[in-house]
Amino acid sequence: MKFSDIPGHESLKKELISLYENDRIPHALLFSGPQGNGKLALALAFASFLQCKGDKKDDKCGKCMACNKTDKYIHPDINFTFPTMGKTSKMYIKEWRKMLSGSVDFSIEEWISFAGFKGKQATIYNDSVIELLDYFRLKRFEGNKKISVIWQAELLGKEGNKILKLIEEPPPDSLLILVADNTKKILPTILSRCQILRIPPYSNEDLLNWAATNEIITDSNLLELSNIAEGSFIEFRKLLDQENIDFFDLFLNWLRLCYQGNSKELVNYAEQFSKTTTNNQKYFFKYGLKFLEKTLKSFYLDREFITLTQEEYESMLKIRNLLNFEKITKMIDVFNKSIIDIERNANIKILIFNDSLKIHKILRF
Ligand SMILES: [Zn+2]
Repeated sequence: MKFSDIPGHESLKKELISLYENDRIPHALLFSGPQGNGKLALALAFASFLQCKGDKKDDKCGKCMACNKTDKYIHPDINFTFPTMGKTSKMYIKEWRKMLSGSVDFSIEEWISFAGFKGKQATIYNDSVIELLDYFRLKRFEGNKKISVIWQAELLGKEGNKILKLIEEPPPDSLLILVADNTKKILPTILSRCQILRIPPYSNEDLLNWAATNEIITDSNLLELSNIAEGSFIEFRKLLDQENIDFFDLFLNWLRLCYQGNSKELVNYAEQFSKTTTNNQKYFFKYGLKFLEKTLKSFYLDREFITLTQEEYESMLKIRNLLNFEKITKMIDVFNKSIIDIERNANIKILIFNDSLKIHKILRF
C-alpha cells in the first residue's frame, strides 16, 4: 500500500511523513474515525513507508526488496493482530493477506464473511495478544522498525491491559499502530498513551477523484452515489458494485406518488420496493436524507455550495415550493427512523406504505 493509492487525506499524509522526517515517530499511534475513512490504508501505507529501504520522499519507493514484501503483506517486521473466531490472528494470516490484497478498506462484517467465520462474534482473543507480545520479544529481522498493526483495536476490550506495559516500556525502534472505529471502547489507560490521529470521512471530491483515477464506468450518477456514501469508501464501493439504480428517479417518483396519495398506487410501490435488497432500501432513505439536507441548505446557500447535479437541483427547487423548514425536518425524522427500522428487519412493505402516508400528510397539510 502506497500513500498515492489512497484518495485524498493529503494533509494527514504530510503529517505522517513529517513525523518520520523529524524523527518524531511515537511508539504508539492510534488511527481513528468512522468506518470506511481509509484509516487502515493510511496505517499500512505508513508502515510500508517506514520499512522502505529505497529512495523515499513523499511515498515508499515501490522498488526495493522491503517494498516488494510490504506490497504482499509478508514483511517479517510488520505484524498483524485482528479479530478472529476460535483461532489466533496468526492462524488466519493467509486469509488476512488475501483480504488486504483485494481492498484495504472493509468492514468487520466483510472480514467475517470473507474469513468464513460462523456467527458474528469475532474478537481479538487473549492468545492473539500473547502472539503480539511474543512478536515484540523477538529482535528486528531486516526492517527499519519493528511494527505491529492492530485492526479493530476496540475489540481488545480488557485484553488491552496486557499491552499496557508494551506501550509504557516499548522495545527500541518499535511502533504499535492501533486502528479503531470507536475509540470510546478502548481502555482510557491505552488511549492516554497513544498519539491519536483522527481521520475524517472522505470528501465527495476524494471519492469522485478515486472513481476517475480508476476509470470506474457506471450508468449511475457518481455524485449521487458519493452523497449517499457519506464519506465512506466501503459504502461507495458497495454502491458501485450493485446494479445501477437511479435513486434520484426512484425517490422523486415516490414523492410524486406520496403527494397524489392514490392508495392503490402506493400499495403497488410498496410491493415493488419490498423486492429490492435491504442495502438498496437503506440507500434509498439515505439518498432522501441527503436530498432534504441539501434542500434545507438551498434556503440560505448559493447553487455552487449545493452538491446536486443540475437535474437534481432543478427538481429540488420545484419540490421546495411545497416545503418549509418544519416540514423538511419532519421528513428527515421519518427517514432516519426508517433506516433504523430497516436495520432491525422491519416489514418493508408496511414500513414504506406507512411512510408514504406520513409524507402525504406532511406535503399536503
Ligand atoms: Zn522501497
